[in-house]
Amino acid sequence: MSATTPAWFVFPPHLEGLDRFEPGKPIGEVQRELGLSEVVKLASNENPLGPSPRAVEAARAAMADVNRYPDPQATELRAALARHLGVPVSHVVAGNGSVEIIDLVARAFLGPGDNAVISEHAFVRFRQVVAAHNHGARLVPMRGWTHDLEAMARAIDERTRLVFVANPNNPTGTWNRRAEVAALVAALPPGCLLVLDEAYFEYTDDPDYPDGIELVRRGAPVLVTRTFSKVYGLGGLRAGYAVAAPEVLDAVLVIREAFGTSAVAQAGATAALRDVEHVRRSVAMNRSEKALLAAALGARGFTVLPSLANFVTFDTGAPGRDVFRRLLARGVIVRPLDPYAMPSFLRVSVGTPAENAAFLAALDAVLPGDPS
Ligand code: PMP
Repeated sequence: MSATTPAWFVFPPHLEGLDRFEPGKPIGEVQRELGLSEVVKLASNENPLGPSPRAVEAARAAMADVNRYPDPQATELRAALARHLGVPVSHVVAGNGSVEIIDLVARAFLGPGDNAVISEHAFVRFRQVVAAHNHGARLVPMRGWTHDLEAMARAIDERTRLVFVANPNNPTGTWNRRAEVAALVAALPPGCLLVLDEAYFEYTDDPDYPDGIELVRRGAPVLVTRTFSKVYGLGGLRAGYAVAAPEVLDAVLVIREAFGTSAVAQAGATAALRDVEHVRRSVAMNRSEKALLAAALGARGFTVLPSLANFVTFDTGAPGRDVFRRLLARGVIVRPLDPYAMPSFLRVSVGTPAENAAFLAALDAVLPGDPS
């Protein structure tokens, strides 16, 4: 309650104490606040090469018809995805970003008294949506900064309806292997669904990384979410999707807002999916730059977590938010991880070679001991 709060206002008591999502600071805001002309944003795991020009062109063309509501079925996009993934169209649903689907799944499957099993440093949205809908999150500690799937299986009780696993996980970048995920799936009781968030799927290059869609194809109780916000470079458009059995998707469709994925997003995402060369270039740059970034941080003595995604998470050995602020003052935006109960860690997205060099130079300038 602040001095300007209207006298009639009551904050919903069941939302009291919930964490708010702290987005990466927008470039324009940092430029204005600090009077900087050059700002490097490595805070939101975006594609530093930008969107596919073909996606931009398709989105622009779709603007001509925005007096019409979008196709609520996202027919073309879903057909393109079904072909791309090798699943029937009935197994695909489009969302306003993949986070919309995560939200819908929580609302659809968690009734009063039900709970969801989530690991402690998992993608924060899981905890937020579960808490906002019914407060039934069962948090399980990680092991070695990785989801402990055995412990998560043990945490399932008779009221558990959902288990959330981001693979690889944000903000740690760590991942779970094929056998671990298979064991968790085998441990799911009837009525319990595994939500596998594969937002960074396209970047993964471990032969032992399990493709969640393979599990869906085999009839496992799994819903996979993926996104156009990362390798496809369309975070600003808001397009994501889920792949699951039609029965699972039906429960989501019951509560879904029909026009969630805009016509512009549908057109842009469909074109982005077809621009295989843009994806290939983006993945290749990420792979080489991530290796350089991790090695450079390691050489400076920081503990760097292994990452299968498009970011690197490391322990600064100092209060991470202080280091974040000092980097910000030099025009480099990264992500402090105190909201994830990792107060000495920072997460830095893999940028272009020039952006990564700018980050490392700024980091060298603000390292403890430097009076700047
Ligand atoms: N899942 C994970 C694990 C993520 O890191 C992110 C992006 N921060 C998302 C989902 C969000 O994706 P979208 O833009 O599709 O909503």
